[in-house]
Amino acid sequence: MTESDLKSGKDSAGRDQMLPYPGVRERYRDVCRRVAAAAEASGRTAKDVLVVAVTKFAQPEQIRQLIELGHADFGENRVQNLVKRIAPIEEFLERHRTLTSSKRVDLPERIRWHMIGHLQRNKVKKVLDLVTLVHSVDTLRLAEEIQEAAMRQDRVVDVLIQINSSLEKSKFGLALPAARHLAQLIGTMANIRLRGMMTMGPLTDDESLIRVCFERCSDCFVEIQTSGEGGPAFNILSMGMTNDFELAIEYGANIVRIGSAIFGDRTESMPGDDGDESED
Ligand SMILES: *Cc1c(COP(=O)(O)O)cnc(C)c1O
Repeated sequence: MTESDLKSGKDSAGRDQMLPYPGVRERYRDVCRRVAAAAEASGRTAKDVLVVAVTKFAQPEQIRQLIELGHADFGENRVQNLVKRIAPIEEFLERHRTLTSSKRVDLPERIRWHMIGHLQRNKVKKVLDLVTLVHSVDTLRLAEEIQEAAMRQDRVVDVLIQINSSLEKSKFGLALPAARHLAQLIGTMANIRLRGMMTMGPLTDDESLIRVCFERCSDCFVEIQTSGEGGPAFNILSMGMTNDFELAIEYGANIVRIGSAIFGDRTESMPGDDGDESED
């Protein structure tokens, strides 16, 4: 889908009319409260858990509203969508900065984009220019591609190893036992800084199954961290989404990636706004 398709989809649905999904501020505040409560229940504080707002079904206006509340961390699972999102958001920030200071109280200095979805090797170069953290490194070949691109740009890239802790075939990620080995190999790459691990819980109502996955992943994370194999910057555990973020925090997550609880889900978003769903 092109930029103009996106725009026309938006207009035909009535951009200036009421938002299809009002209340993003309230939903966001509610999520923050729940994150804080879960963090406190596990002996931490809200500051210890970063909320990445996942924008795959978000309206541009909803993203702007979150930014005005001071939110700076956003995640996309598709490179194409990431690319489309960034320029208008930067323009928005620029416009905001030129307003009088009284009107930009909470505006973040800059937006940090997180790549949370499957990353193809031919898109690595593009992504590195745009994101703060790549959550989805799941093969040695992808890590090598990132290393090479980062070396050419003379920079260091922060990444997480993605674990398929539920072993669902539909999910990307490395099996847990292989994580340690990949961590060691990444440790030898000068232009990658391994920051931790990411996983997605299984899609189920059975809480015990989710707990098993989070616990396993968390145990493995701690092992790699305490053994030193993850290196000095290995301190991020990215797990938990709308349906399971409180559980994830209970098991030590310090990044949660939340989409529909903040922006509404696929059915609430307008058709055509989520790009094409096929794997590219
Ligand atoms: C979509 C997505 C999320 C957010 O999912 P919600 O259930 O809408 O909160 C988190 N992580 C990844 C990798 C995703 O693709």
